[in-house]
Amino acid sequence: MSRIGVFVCHCGMNIAKTVRIDDVVEFAGELPGVVVAEGYKFMCSTPGQELIQEKIKECNLDGVIVAACSPLMHEKTFRKVAEGAGLNQYLLTIVNIREQCSWVIEDEDEATSKAKALINGAVYRTHLLAPLESRFIDVNPEAMVVGGGIAGIQAALELAATGKKVYLVEKSPTIGGHMAQFDKTFPTLDCSACILTPKMDAVLQNPNIDLMTSCEVTEVKGFVGNFDVTVKQKARYVDHDKCNGCLSCMEKCPGRGLSEFDEGLDKRKSIYIPFPQAVPQKPVIDRETCIYFKKGKCRVCEQVCEQDAIDFEQEDTYRDITVGAIIAATGYGLMDTTPLVQYGYGKYPGVYNALEVERLFNSTGPTEGKVVMKDGKEPESIAILHCIGSRDTNYHEYCSRVCCMYALKFAHLFKEKTSADVYQLYIDMRCFGKGYEEFYNRLLEENVKFVRGKAARVTDVTVSPDEEGKLIVEVEDTLSSQFMRLPVDMVVLSPAMEAQADAGEVARTFNIGVDKDNFFREKHPKLDPLSTTTDGVFLAGACQGPKDIPDTVAQAIGAAAEALTIVGKEQLELEAATVYVDPYVCCGCQNCVRVCTYSAPSFDVEKNVSEINEALCKGCGLCAASCPTGAIIARHFTNDQFIGEMEGLMEF
Ligand code: FAD
Ligand code: SF4
Ligand code: SF4
Repeated sequence: MSRIGVFVCHCGMNIAKTVRIDDVVEFAGELPGVVVAEGYKFMCSTPGQELIQEKIKECNLDGVIVAACSPLMHEKTFRKVAEGAGLNQYLLTIVNIREQCSWVIEDEDEATSKAKALINGAVYRTHLLAPLESRFIDVNPEAMVVGGGIAGIQAALELAATGKKVYLVEKSPTIGGHMAQFDKTFPTLDCSACILTPKMDAVLQNPNIDLMTSCEVTEVKGFVGNFDVTVKQKARYVDHDKCNGCLSCMEKCPGRGLSEFDEGLDKRKSIYIPFPQAVPQKPVIDRETCIYFKKGKCRVCEQVCEQDAIDFEQEDTYRDITVGAIIAATGYGLMDTTPLVQYGYGKYPGVYNALEVERLFNSTGPTEGKVVMKDGKEPESIAILHCIGSRDTNYHEYCSRVCCMYALKFAHLFKEKTSADVYQLYIDMRCFGKGYEEFYNRLLEENVKFVRGKAARVTDVTVSPDEEGKLIVEVEDTLSSQFMRLPVDMVVLSPAMEAQADAGEVARTFNIGVDKDNFFREKHPKLDPLSTTTDGVFLAGACQGPKDIPDTVAQAIGAAAEALTIVGKEQLELEAATVYVDPYVCCGCQNCVRVCTYSAPSFDVEKNVSEINEALCKGCGLCAASCPTGAIIARHFTNDQFIGEMEGLMEF
């Protein structure tokens, strides 16, 4: 290049605070081949972008350097700026003088000097840049949503409403997720089923949605725009094409298993639908508890089924589906509180976890909505314990965000359905959402007793006659600094919302990352919270972290919109700054195959050389750096360009 422009950004005071911009601009203007150098307060703003475009045209520039923030932030912005002025977008170099300079160096002289060195290196590099041409691939217009809780349901409905075909893959026999288990939802206390079941039915009725229950994704190959997904259909032992949902089989089945939907508080038949409003309304056989599968005798369901739908020989099947984009909406699990022995869960029948209590309130639950305990008695006193496993560095440091609110919901429902004394034992009340603080204030009026303190222990060791037959909750009230013993009949634990137990495995299948708590990792927590590091795979709902239903629904709509930016296009532009293999230099060691996190290199056994799938390659250069023979060439980061930049840096 012979006509380079250098544009130095102040980033408000972010850069200008420690880097002397005028000094740097003057220095850059004198470097070989630089025909214009300018500083501006915010280079990414409209006037900043216009300034660059004006100079590209006015000075007939054939190379542009923008010294500003990290390329992660604005490389794409400035590439568009260059292209908008008729310059190939790859004739641009970003110099990071914010994160790598002003933010990490306090001394003004040192920061200014480093900014100059970086720009000197960039000028050397820019002289050696070559234009690259973008390539395009055809996009499969269909999408897949994995997980049929409220997040997956909402995302599938949004995509289907735009006319796109959607595969909704749910691993259990019904969609609905955790929301289907609730009686009421905070803070409005509207009936959960009344707002959820119409959506579940809308999924079933929508011709654009292919509902795949009792299914799991076992393999994902391919890349954005063209994912090849293998879905396992688990054997249901009922042919759903023949079954008309009459449920006579369920009525007559003598087999019994614990109801997962009722959190084990009740039994269900061995051939069953999980709950009365389940979608689809067609049963499955639970092999583990079915008398025929266990003892070889029974087949009552087969005898009563007039549709001849029972099929004891049915096996798992696999289906290959190609989609352009995927939304992961696999939700959360509730922490098992049994190991926290101090709270007595599993030891004392009077200690319940939050989801069990949700089922007690529900008219379709084990007690038909009556608040009675396992001994059949209504509790006279109840303690709701917050933050069990959340905000606790021994378990999960994070806040589960919904527990304060559902604990308030429980207190309200206990007051409505019983005459019990209700205690809330909290560390802090976190009522952050719309209408949440108001709900808390309402509960203050409902004669609920708030104790600020984390429960230390639940015990049945009594020290006075009025404690006889009760569970004792020991707690320090941190407002009055008093140690308290609360004798109650029922204890409700609010366990942490956790990542699904198989989240790591599922993440590997989708080639996405997990955070330190095993929730799926977003591409950028603030600026790209619905994307993942794999282009075309998006996140919705509690699989990304604990959240309530309003946030889940909002995120699901956002994820559908993100997926639409892919499946709504006929073609996608591929990154041109990728790598390629020189087959004459490749020694076949397969280092590249091992190091690439995007699975872009593969090995051709016949030719004994590696090959790169450029649609998967992100141009990170890891393979090029690890190739012992230098057979991998990174476009836009060639050895010449890299060494040139180093020379420029060292010279300074
Ligand atoms: P989930 O509801 O967990 O659904 C995930 C779905 O994905 C499930 O159907 C699951 O079977 C499926 N799945 C999992 N793994 C796979 C896989 N590998 N392949 C295919 N499918 C898979 N929020 C409110 O706003 N109001 C309330 O009143 C309220 N009460 C609550 C009470 C309790 C006790 C708790 C614990 C939470 C409460 N919440 C409430 C929060 C609410 O449960 C969540 O916001 C919501 O359920 C998140 O929806 P989701 O679809 O992301 O996840
Ligand atoms: Fe389906 Fe047959 Fe059972 Fe009726 S009896 S629900 S048709 S499997
Ligand atoms: Fe129930 Fe018997 Fe059919 Fe098994 S074989 S699902 S136990 S009726």
